[in-house]
Amino acid sequence: MSENKKNIAILGSTGSIGTQALDVIRANPDSFVVEVLTGNGNADLLIKQAIEFNPNSVVIADESKYAYVKEALQSYDIKVFAGNKAIAEIVQMDSVNMVLAAIVGYAGLESTISAIKAGKQIALANKETLVVAGDLVTNLAKEKGVNLYPVDSEHSAIFQCLAGEFHNPIEKIYLTASGGPFRGKDKNFLATVKKEQALKHPNWEMGAKITIDSASLMNKGLEVIEAKWLFNLKPEQIDVIVHPQSIVHSLVQFTDGSMKAQMGLPDMKLPIQYALGYPNRMKSDFPRFSFFNYPQLTFEQVDTKTFRNLALAFEAMNKGGNSPCILNAANEIAVNAFLKDKIGFLEMSDVVEKCLQTVSFIAKPSYDDYVETDLATRQFANELI
Ligand code: NAD
Ligand code: MG
Repeated sequence: MSENKKNIAILGSTGSIGTQALDVIRANPDSFVVEVLTGNGNADLLIKQAIEFNPNSVVIADESKYAYVKEALQSYDIKVFAGNKAIAEIVQMDSVNMVLAAIVGYAGLESTISAIKAGKQIALANKETLVVAGDLVTNLAKEKGVNLYPVDSEHSAIFQCLAGEFHNPIEKIYLTASGGPFRGKDKNFLATVKKEQALKHPNWEMGAKITIDSASLMNKGLEVIEAKWLFNLKPEQIDVIVHPQSIVHSLVQFTDGSMKAQMGLPDMKLPIQYALGYPNRMKSDFPRFSFFNYPQLTFEQVDTKTFRNLALAFEAMNKGGNSPCILNAANEIAVNAFLKDKIGFLEMSDVVEKCLQTVSFIAKPSYDDYVETDLATRQFANELI
């Protein structure tokens, strides 16, 4: 392990966040060492990344691809493992300083908790972790002295606005939302949209799940809950404002009424690099913002009547307990079904709402309660579909 370099485990290295994190690391070889890479479906990309970055270990979550990855890397000094249990174990390795949690969905929960237990610093992209088990995860992080550095652009913006202000109370935060590809559309329109339209985000290129979540505003709902836990806020301190240009990434309002915003071009490499490099801002050659390309920055009220997912997420957050876990599991099943053309765009909200009404409420869930809630919700949601 080198003295001045951070040794990083990238969970979900083959995804949108994972590959952009590797771009950041490739450009900053003096600051970072890749210790661990993990992937699921895309074994070929994982192999290619392993050959380029020469990590200590790689893990392929999909165990059926183990032999394939093992054989491809046999002439390299790289350990190969398979399965999600192996991911949860490997993050505890002594040589790992920081874990970038960039697996998508509930699947990222176990490994993130495991990394916190081992005292690793966390760069958190996997927002579902905090949605599902925010109380448990933030309490554990506190207990272990672990910082959760947000990668999500809105939360990175808030975090950047708070630099030097950690002793000052927050009055309120505003999370900005682009509004997605269906901003301004009504329910009649939404009833007819297909996945091809929903997968075209105006400002960001991301994995399929978060892109659908962005179109349905569930992504903003998940982010509201994520913000509650990251910044220790009450629900009424969190507001959402639509900002179609995605230049202002979010805002904090302090108790004197002053507001701070963080701005920049929409490029996930910026918040990824800030989280990995914290507390330093590393030099980059990312494109710079020009005022004259954006002569107007505009803001609108969010339409929670048409985009019910955001209202449902606020409801789940207000109710607390295992409700956000139910919301998340139902949404994962619904998004998957929408991507397979099994249900329509608006039916995703129906599934989430039915699950929130039906799955048993637990006020103070344990880890096992979350596991059971997730499973029970998936079963019920699948029956609805
Ligand atoms: P993605 O689908 O592009 O990548 C997901 C990664 O997780 C891949 O490496 C995949 O192999 C792995 N993975 C998937 N299922 C797995 C499983 N069951 N077990 C183990 N590994 C599995 O997703 P993404 O867009 O990179 O998003 C990753 C996370 O970051 C999500 O939680 C998302 O909400 C969050 N996030 C993404 C962006 C973005 O711009 N993409 C922005 C903010 C937050
Ligand atoms: Mg975001």
